[in-house]
Amino acid sequence: MTERTMVGPGVVVTGFGPDAAVITDGAVVWEGERIVAVGPYGALAGRYPGAEHLEVDGNLILPGLVNLHHHAYSALARGLDPGIPMHDFGRVLRGLWWRLDRALDEETVRLSAELTLAACIRWGCTTLFDHHASPSFLRGSLDLIGLAAERSGIRAVLCYEVSDRNGHHEALAGLEENLDFAVRHRDHPSLRGMLGLHASFTLSDETLSRVGRDRPGGVGIHVHVAEDPLDVELSWQRYGAGPVERLERAGLLDRLALLVHGVHLEEVDLETVAASGAVLVHNPESNANNAVGTLDLARALGAGCRVGLGTDGMSSRMLGSLRSALLAQRSLRGDPGCCFTEVAGLLEVNARRAAEALGEPLLGRLEPGAPADLVVLEDVPPTPPGPENILGHLVYGASESPVRHTIARGRILLRDGRHTTLDPATLAAEARATAPYLWERFASLGGDGD
Ligand SMILES: [Zn+2]
Repeated sequence: MTERTMVGPGVVVTGFGPDAAVITDGAVVWEGERIVAVGPYGALAGRYPGAEHLEVDGNLILPGLVNLHHHAYSALARGLDPGIPMHDFGRVLRGLWWRLDRALDEETVRLSAELTLAACIRWGCTTLFDHHASPSFLRGSLDLIGLAAERSGIRAVLCYEVSDRNGHHEALAGLEENLDFAVRHRDHPSLRGMLGLHASFTLSDETLSRVGRDRPGGVGIHVHVAEDPLDVELSWQRYGAGPVERLERAGLLDRLALLVHGVHLEEVDLETVAASGAVLVHNPESNANNAVGTLDLARALGAGCRVGLGTDGMSSRMLGSLRSALLAQRSLRGDPGCCFTEVAGLLEVNARRAAEALGEPLLGRLEPGAPADLVVLEDVPPTPPGPENILGHLVYGASESPVRHTIARGRILLRDGRHTTLDPATLAAEARATAPYLWERFASLGGDGD
């Protein structure tokens, strides 16, 4: 007999798009990796009496969340003192991130990945788009992270950050790592590869054209764009064109591309991005932390851009990022009544982009035939939930709530708040023992704050 599992009765939100339904006293039933039924709990309990029952107690049941931009490698930076002042974006890169990624070795890449995957599961993320860099352990780094993702049970779309910042040879090695991983995982059930690029200002014309020439069909780029004015200024200074124009010239701008940040893009660039169908990935908490400015969502959407949401290494809590997105837009516009419309589509763009990347058209929806990727939050809506106000329930309620169950590909990865595939306490103990050695290597790489 095939095993079926049911969650309910709870408040089922069937998706994040405009056509999503909200079913109070609802349930979801899945068999293997696919959902077989979604509907009123009473009816489904009668139809599937033998199903394993996962308690929900009236809580919110959502499609598994997608994070469109994260850096697992940043997990061991928590509490690290760079030892030098970092008062602008260039110093943050040179003094912190480019030193940390060079200090990473095989063990700390694995640990960082596992810690981040555990945090993703803890916050209901079932598909992670990661952007990785570890120049001292480059070859095989994506396989190592991929293996960790497979063991954790969540889906992952991985890439290595190609950059000329440590020389052209290393840029080519990074490209090779991307190509090798992406080609071997074209048909993998839960992993995919993209072509990771750092940012325009650390990529030579030669490297960009090489990436354009070597890019396999169906594989898009994942790149930081105009996060800070520095990217735009140096791009013009060094290469005589802005970041978007350079990517377009290299044939890299299309529907498969993830352009991260876009805070400092001009109107004309936003129109180019919109015409290409690329997704702009907004990371409000990271932007605030790095004091780089705030993406004007109304402007980007007005230009016709598809805009999704990530966390950029700041956290793994997507609903926290959603809440921050709303707060940042209100602060930007000085309007306490604005921006629900602008924020409303972010999670749907994430779901659609993940569906495209993984070849699962129904990913991010709770309906028969869709992948059984879902999350149950410890949040019983205290006011009537409906399609018209579900964003309010997410931003003002669920975003503050712990997760009770996380399910990906039909497998329960978090049950009653406890991990089933990873052991965060053991991982943290291991990381605390290892981090001092990583931090020593980091310190020995010098504090180039200038
Ligand atoms: Zn990033």
